[in-house]
Amino acid sequence: MNNEILNQIVKEFGSPLYIYDGEKIESQYNRLSKAFNKVEKFKVYYAVKALSNISILKILKKLGSGLDTVSIEEVKLGLHAGFEPHEIIFTPNGVSLQEIEQVAKLGVQINIDNLSILEQFGTNNPNIPVCIRINPHVMAGGNANISVGHIDSKFGISIHQMPHLLRIVENTKMHINGIHMHTGSDILDVDVFLYAAEILFETAKNFKNLDFIDFGSGFKVPYKKGDIETNVEEFGKKLTKRFLNFEKEYGRSLTLAFEPGKFLVSEAGVFLANVNVVKQTTSTVFAGINSGFNHLIRPMLYGAQHHIDNISNPKGKERFYTVVGYICETDTFATNRRINEIHEGDVLCFRNAGAYCYSMASNYNSRVKPAEVLWINNEAHLIRQRETFEDILRNQVEIDITNNAEIPV
Ligand SMILES: *Cc1c(COP(=O)(O)O)cnc(C)c1O
Repeated sequence: MNNEILNQIVKEFGSPLYIYDGEKIESQYNRLSKAFNKVEKFKVYYAVKALSNISILKILKKLGSGLDTVSIEEVKLGLHAGFEPHEIIFTPNGVSLQEIEQVAKLGVQINIDNLSILEQFGTNNPNIPVCIRINPHVMAGGNANISVGHIDSKFGISIHQMPHLLRIVENTKMHINGIHMHTGSDILDVDVFLYAAEILFETAKNFKNLDFIDFGSGFKVPYKKGDIETNVEEFGKKLTKRFLNFEKEYGRSLTLAFEPGKFLVSEAGVFLANVNVVKQTTSTVFAGINSGFNHLIRPMLYGAQHHIDNISNPKGKERFYTVVGYICETDTFATNRRINEIHEGDVLCFRNAGAYCYSMASNYNSRVKPAEVLWINNEAHLIRQRETFEDILRNQVEIDITNNAEIPV
């Protein structure tokens, strides 16, 4: 999607606007699959929470992906988009036993990440196969500095609790069919990831009837110059070799699974917003846009750096700007950023806006959420309408508080 196309789309659908490039999602998916093409049974479970529009889910379905879900609502979105229950993994954290049992009834693969729920679920449903989420306590601190940490993480069952876990499995006679880890953003380095994988292989030996090992995610995509990017090809080669060896040791073939979110959709997305005001102060030049952390919260929540282009004036002289939103709180997207000269009305383009952007949007300040557009086969398709004021009022229950009417509680 070049600037001309982006400008055209924003003219047609208005701003602020999210646009996703279907072909980029496909090329990322194919790149990952290719890196593991020596593994007989390889499966990608796209992490729905990154970007949950059902048209995006349908693209992934067509590519052959499954889904990784964290709420029963995400499971239902996946079923709605046409996924079979067995193509969906439910990997929640801190969710009630009741919700987990409801999802299990739908036929979805359950992944349990604490011993309390494992014992209760196994007691109630000894015949439903369950995957267990392990916390290998591995943190990256650079190549030669592998530290055993993250003892305080709320995710996963500690490897140190293995004796207790095995006792629960034995007592309940439940069937463990998968082993899982997802160490999130802790692992930046291929060798550190492989170290964590060893712990998973060790754990797997305790269970005789596994169908799959799920290595979660942890794939990095570059947001700004100099960012670490996972070398997927090198990673594929190294993990494949180790995995094939493990299969021999284990005595049967297993599915190797991943659950990438960001890797598949981050770079496919852009967020476009118009500049409402250019404001000089004693210390800087602010460019204020018609959006805020209600639409794109990653810069404020994580300090994420999204590259920003002025697609209305791409050849203009570069100047320094602080890009801010219109929310009545500090909502700074970027400080001292070099951007081609900005005029009021210009369209700014935020890169890497596919993952954890729209899916984290809110209605704060009673603003409506933006529209979403999918660019595919050289055509722009609206895949979610811009909200309207009606959406802001929906679900609000109006009561009569005049005439001393009693307010119901
Ligand atoms: C969020 C999440 C993912 C995806 O993480 P990315 O960094 O977006 O690739 C995978 N697995 C689980 C269990 C998750 O919660």
